[in-house]
Amino acid sequence: MKIYNSLTRKKEEFVPIVPGKISMYVCGPTVYNYFHIGNGRTFIVFDTIRRYMEYRGYEVNFVQNFTDIDDKMINKANEEHTTVKEIGDKYIAEYYKDADGLNIKRATTNPRATEYISEIIEFVSGLIEKGYAYEVDGDVYFRTKKFENYGQLIGQNLDDLRSGARINVDERKEDPVDFAIWKAQKPGEPGWECPWGVGRPGWHIECSCMAKKLLGETIDIHAGGMDLAFPHHENEIAQSEALTGKKFANYWMHAAFLNVNNQKMSKSLNNFLTARDALKQYDPDVIRFLMLSGHYRIQLNFSNDLLESAKASVERLYNAIGNLESLISEVKINEMTEDEVKYLNSLDSYRQRYIEKMDDDFNTADAISVLFDLIRDINSNVGINSSKELCEKALELIRELGSPLGILQKTTKGNLEEEIEALIAERQQARKDRNFALADKIRDELKAKGIELLDTPQGVRWKKID
Ligand code: AMP
Ligand code: ZN
Repeated sequence: MKIYNSLTRKKEEFVPIVPGKISMYVCGPTVYNYFHIGNGRTFIVFDTIRRYMEYRGYEVNFVQNFTDIDDKMINKANEEHTTVKEIGDKYIAEYYKDADGLNIKRATTNPRATEYISEIIEFVSGLIEKGYAYEVDGDVYFRTKKFENYGQLIGQNLDDLRSGARINVDERKEDPVDFAIWKAQKPGEPGWECPWGVGRPGWHIECSCMAKKLLGETIDIHAGGMDLAFPHHENEIAQSEALTGKKFANYWMHAAFLNVNNQKMSKSLNNFLTARDALKQYDPDVIRFLMLSGHYRIQLNFSNDLLESAKASVERLYNAIGNLESLISEVKINEMTEDEVKYLNSLDSYRQRYIEKMDDDFNTADAISVLFDLIRDINSNVGINSSKELCEKALELIRELGSPLGILQKTTKGNLEEEIEALIAERQQARKDRNFALADKIRDELKAKGIELLDTPQGVRWKKID
């Protein structure tokens, strides 16, 4: 497996610290609002990468944090006349609803920053003791110039960064590039007792601290959206490596933005679509397909047309699935013939090509093309004269290759059954209401779909008319 490492700016062969196991930390959302599909792209991308690594046999310890204390959280709590804790609880619950809706697998652990305050204080104290941090009026800053490799991720040295620093820098800082790792409490803000008074953690420190606590001092992969590379990830590296003296993460991965009219989708630009609203209109397979139809390091320009075309593509894939599902219940022969065994073996080349594409820095766009090639092949070679076994194996292969992408796991049969059950319930209600015209209309509608209704002592049953 090759991964593009943002730290070395190269595609590298992936070698885990412990063979067969992967420790992965992904920066998660600030939980002050519903997330939008821009955030969703990043979550879906790393969920897919995790699923693929699991498909390849790795055991993945996947940590994604919730930032539940920062300015945005505090402002939202004040706006809603409630506490930061309440806001966090609420939007974490909402996050799970939407992430589950998008078929994003639950992380191994979703730590909340506020649950690690004592560990964060210990981390900050350690940095002060080693001379990597200093306290001023209850704030604690990281002493950037003491950390030699600062700027390695962004590829700039301290002088470049200093000249880019804002003019109005805080005069209490020793150096304009120093950054806050702990903030003294201001009126109306929540705070925790610490050796420097009362305060709260800065944003970067939570990820350094929770990654160390949950995954160890050196982790395999650290990931997040492109906007996090600087300063967030650069600062994480500085804090972690200053404290432990060890390399923090071996591979850094950054997902490109979902844009709207070539601008990043974001809450502040008010050009966003929440995942929740997107899910009201589109199947999760469609949203995932859209996000994965381009390579994760290339920006994707979102539009409704793109969503509609993703919908059409997913329909084509499900048509093939539906076709195989029908064949499975209709074909007459059970076992594969010798020729069919040969044919099935030939389909393995698609699996190999798919793996090749995904092994190459998770090229989901090309992997999806392989899926379409596979479906084209199956559509023209598997039919009513095939065996049930071949139809089943072909269907299994489609689902197998869909599963790392988090798509194609649904059954089209289930939908039909649900539809029939709903119509039957509607007909029963019509009869209860003595609306026989409607009841008859529904019976005819079902008949047109090839469904016959049978009134039995146990209630209404249905069967397919041959
Ligand atoms: P936030 O809640 O803003 O901290 O963002 C959570 C995650 O979503 C981070 O990894 C961000 O980098 C990522 N993200 C935010 N906006 C976008 C976007 N428009 N496209 C892709 N990822 C994004
Ligand atoms: Zn982070």
